[in-house]
Amino acid sequence: MTAVAIVPAAGSGSRLDARRPKQFLRVGGVPLVVLTLRVLSGAREVGGIIVAARPEVVETTRRLLERYRIPRLLDVVPGGRERQESVWLALQAIPPSASLVVIHDAVRPFITRELVASVIRTASRHGAATCGLPVVETVKQVRDGLVEATVEREGLWLVQTPQAFHRSLLWEAHEKARSDGFTGTDDAVLVERLGVPVRMVVGLPENLKITTRADLARARIFAARRTR
Ligand code: C5P
Repeated sequence: MTAVAIVPAAGSGSRLDARRPKQFLRVGGVPLVVLTLRVLSGAREVGGIIVAARPEVVETTRRLLERYRIPRLLDVVPGGRERQESVWLALQAIPPSASLVVIHDAVRPFITRELVASVIRTASRHGAATCGLPVVETVKQVRDGLVEATVEREGLWLVQTPQAFHRSLLWEAHEKARSDGFTGTDDAVLVERLGVPVRMVVGLPENLKITTRADLARARIFAARRTR
């Protein structure tokens, strides 16, 4: 049982305020996207990888990934304006024989092969799977610096990637979202909108999404600790 991986890497990294897109920033001397792809391609359950990059850096990305000899790289495709659009465009490039798809953000390098395998296995059995962690802190609704409400955290989870799906289900979910004009921040929500259950797999505390400068600094410390 193998899945084709889609790696959305077409974000601008504007919140990082860096000159180059964040997926090319170096962590432990290696571009973030390479770090992520090394783990992903190391999972036996990943049969091929499609990366979505910003249209103007598709060729640069392809050369970069060839230079780092990322195994089983099938294609680098131009991404869209939203993450959802980037995943949709990458879906078009998936070989017709693939029946399972796993999606993982380029900016989450600290996954493990075990987590990738576990999400793929769960999706293979049940159709749709995401990973995440239960919320452990108190959650409040705030407006203009004032607390409006305290949200009951029981049953709340913070969602991560990888997420995996039967290909036909993911396709249908994206088509419906497109025709409804719905844009989600992950792929699972598109499947939820079909009324299809999505299984939750326990993720990893270190699976942080590198969004801000502070995240990048944390990632560098974390990477240094790992290689020691
Ligand atoms: O935008 P966000 O921080 O949620 O990005 C999550 C992932 O989606 C990143 O790996 C980013 O490169 C990717 N992305 C994309 N296309 C976009 C926006 C984000 O592939 N238009």
